[in-house]
Amino acid sequence: MKTCRKVTRQPPTSSYMRASNLGHIPDQIAWNATKRGVAATKVKSAYSSQECHVCHYVDRKNRPNQQTFCCQVCGHTTHADVNASRNLAARLHDAELRACTTRHEVKALLMRRHEQWKQIVGLVVVQPPVQLGLWACSETSTDVG
Ligand SMILES: [Zn+2]
Repeated sequence: MKTCRKVTRQPPTSSYMRASNLGHIPDQIAWNATKRGVAATKVKSAYSSQECHVCHYVDRKNRPNQQTFCCQVCGHTTHADVNASRNLAARLHDAELRACTTRHEVKALLMRRHEQWKQIVGLVVVQPPVQLGLWACSETSTDVG
């Protein structure tokens, strides 16, 4: 288990004020998007606050407190809102995730992606030459150290 440092940065007070009226946020977003002539697109939010943006590992323990995100697998640590917003942005064009119909399917997909991440990371790990037997010690070695 990774040791996490606490992220102490607080969002601005105005964020808390806006968050106290969560029911109006979708309407406000639609109104603001129309006003600015841009599209507002809904994305699935399931597990966006628990998913690691780096390795896709999903766990409640990734959130030791309200502000901190700390992945229990890869150690990625940032403000929880930053991690969640990156996940949401990445989901904008994610057809595979959009096809999920339940939270259970979303979590299963994210955990499959985590397993893929583990395989990719495992493939790029370079074994030390000594373990491969390529650089056996010899008197003709040019190694300095
Ligand atoms: Zn991670």
